[in-house]
Amino acid sequence: MSENCIFCKIAAGDIPAKKVYEDADFLAFHDINPAAPIHLLVIPKKHVASLAHVKDEDGPWLGRMMVLMQKLASDNGCTPGHEGGFRVVANTGREGGQEVDHLHFHILGGPRPWNKRAAPAA
Ligand code: AMP
Ligand code: ZN
Repeated sequence: MSENCIFCKIAAGDIPAKKVYEDADFLAFHDINPAAPIHLLVIPKKHVASLAHVKDEDGPWLGRMMVLMQKLASDNGCTPGHEGGFRVVANTGREGGQEVDHLHFHILGGPRPWNKRAAPAA
């Protein structure tokens, strides 16, 4: 837990979120300001600042997080198959558009057009 980190507070249950999935290592919840009909955020419960901070030894849990995302997408209404699908985004650092410094993957999906908001959806 990193002090003053909003996603650590959500993971600890200190700030409410519309959770859609939780296990020992990960949490997924709805983005408060959705840029697409379906817009989820997936975080590791442990504080990692960004994708620029992961190390070789983080590979196994990052791999599990990657595999989890297809399930989160389909369980939360993303259209299956080639004509459907979803987008995964990890804004990294300020020039990468990252606003919350706790590693998170955006999962965006649903029928287009989507909100043109630049940060996660561009
Ligand atoms: P990023 O620019 O990749 O750091 O994105 C941060 C995302 O977190 C934005 O899409 C925000 O809408 C979202 N966000 C910020 N605070 C909350 C919150 N309390 N609950 C859910 N989503 C949040
Ligand atoms: Zn954190």
